[in-house]
Amino acid sequence: MIYQRPRREMVERLKHRGIHDKHVLAAMERVPRHLFVQPGMEFQAYDEKALPIGFEQTISHPYTVALMTQVLQPEASGKILEIGTGSGYQAAVLLECGARLFTVERIPPLADRAKKKLEELGYRFMLKTGDGTMGWPAYAPYDGIIITAGAPVSPPTLLHQLKEGGRCVVPIGSEKGQMLTLFIREKESLRKMEIEPLSFVPLIGKHGWQK
Ligand code: SAM
Repeated sequence: MIYQRPRREMVERLKHRGIHDKHVLAAMERVPRHLFVQPGMEFQAYDEKALPIGFEQTISHPYTVALMTQVLQPEASGKILEIGTGSGYQAAVLLECGARLFTVERIPPLADRAKKKLEELGYRFMLKTGDGTMGWPAYAPYDGIIITAGAPVSPPTLLHQLKEGGRCVVPIGSEKGQMLTLFIREKESLRKMEIEPLSFVPLIGKHGWQK
């Protein structure tokens, strides 16, 4: 099968970097990442880097996708909200993990392209175009929320849409670099854990950066 070897090698590198969740590793071995990059960049799709997808946005580094998914711990049939559909690659990895996925993208042509690609691959999901910092209240609460763009602060509206026991993974910091942060909703409070520093394009919107 096309690109199977580079995909397997990517998964081996992920294991060496500490990704141990077997569902995440299996999902990333299945998803054809080369179909989510821009035409002409397929040969770089499995390299250790983020790649441009147009509109000043990127498909995240394979390690970033793996780490965020591992920290989120999507369970089969768990309801997951993704903010920042981008190329649709992270969405495909979540769907391969068995998530029921709701995903929001603010740039219409990216949303359209990702929707078409994910549908061509046979995935079922809900996608809308708009400001994801407002969440998607119609389907709340969620078992997990993953924000794939850098936020200036923890987004309050999104955290309110998390179920008790639910997990929210979000990079928080400046526009230059962020700390990947995990929030777990407990009965009366939110538990916060810092995971590791990463660098994302900005989360733009009412509860993000103003542009
Ligand atoms: N998850 C994506 C993937 O797998 O390709 C990577 C996403 S890229 C690093 C960040 C995305 O977040 C961009 O597509 C950007 O347009 C989107 N974004 C930024 N602010 C947003 C917002 N308020 N609502 C929804 N999407 C947003």
